[in-house]
Amino acid sequence: MSGRQRAGRRPSGPRAWDEVAPSETSRIGPALPPSRTAGEDETGDAAARTLVRRVVENLDGEYGAKRNRLNGKPLDTLVGIILSQQNSSASSHACFSELKRRFPTWEDALAADVGDIEDAIRRGGLARIKAERIKAILRNLLDRHGSLELAGLAELPTDDAVAELVRLPGVGPKTARCVLLFALGADVFPMDVHIFRIAERLGIIAPKTPDERAHRVVGALIPDGRRYSAHVNMVEHGRTTCRPTAPKCDTCCLLEYCVFGQYRLDDLVDVTHDPRS
Ligand code: SF4
Repeated sequence: MSGRQRAGRRPSGPRAWDEVAPSETSRIGPALPPSRTAGEDETGDAAARTLVRRVVENLDGEYGAKRNRLNGKPLDTLVGIILSQQNSSASSHACFSELKRRFPTWEDALAADVGDIEDAIRRGGLARIKAERIKAILRNLLDRHGSLELAGLAELPTDDAVAELVRLPGVGPKTARCVLLFALGADVFPMDVHIFRIAERLGIIAPKTPDERAHRVVGALIPDGRRYSAHVNMVEHGRTTCRPTAPKCDTCCLLEYCVFGQYRLDDLVDVTHDPRS
């Protein structure tokens, strides 16, 4: 089935997941689907790698393969991510523009009162918290490096660059990988709540897999050079189709590979909540 085709109801005949799952083991309980959870053994890893490649291909077919437009400015990207939290894309862009209008350099922002930064980004919500976080990051950078630069990240191995970023106040593994992906084009795979949900429902990771392990395991399964498109398209898929409640399994382009969705359409799985919540 191509990604452009709608999957429709559960496929008839031999179960589609037999093709990518050489064995089945119940990992969660009797009411939940079989597992191809990655990172357990070589057989599981091989099956998961095949599954993930097909998921990426189907999502590219459904939403289009995405190209990364790098800005080469990791500190700008980091501040932009902070401004986007619990905020719409349009509003966070407006906040960033207003912040840069009032404080053309990050040195200007560091020298400003936190209340003035808060005022510049007020329309995006959580303005006080975000203003304090931005100031704390700028202060941390200046104290540790003597300048407000993150450009040296591009020279570091990926794991070292992630470690450097998570030393900044309020920066976790997802945000660190987003900065590396969007600003510098690193071939990393940040996982947000949508991607965690999809990966769990597809059986790629077990429920409650720790964040750092999930980033490593799922990122390693995605073909090289495809992680940006996979990230953007999985977020889109989680927002529009594989929603926390009432996922649209009957029209999902991944139904062929999703035992969870197939069980759900057969009323064998109840989805009334987000498994990450
Ligand atoms: S749970 Fe449903 S919507 Fe989500 S990936 Fe599976 S089939 Fe698609």
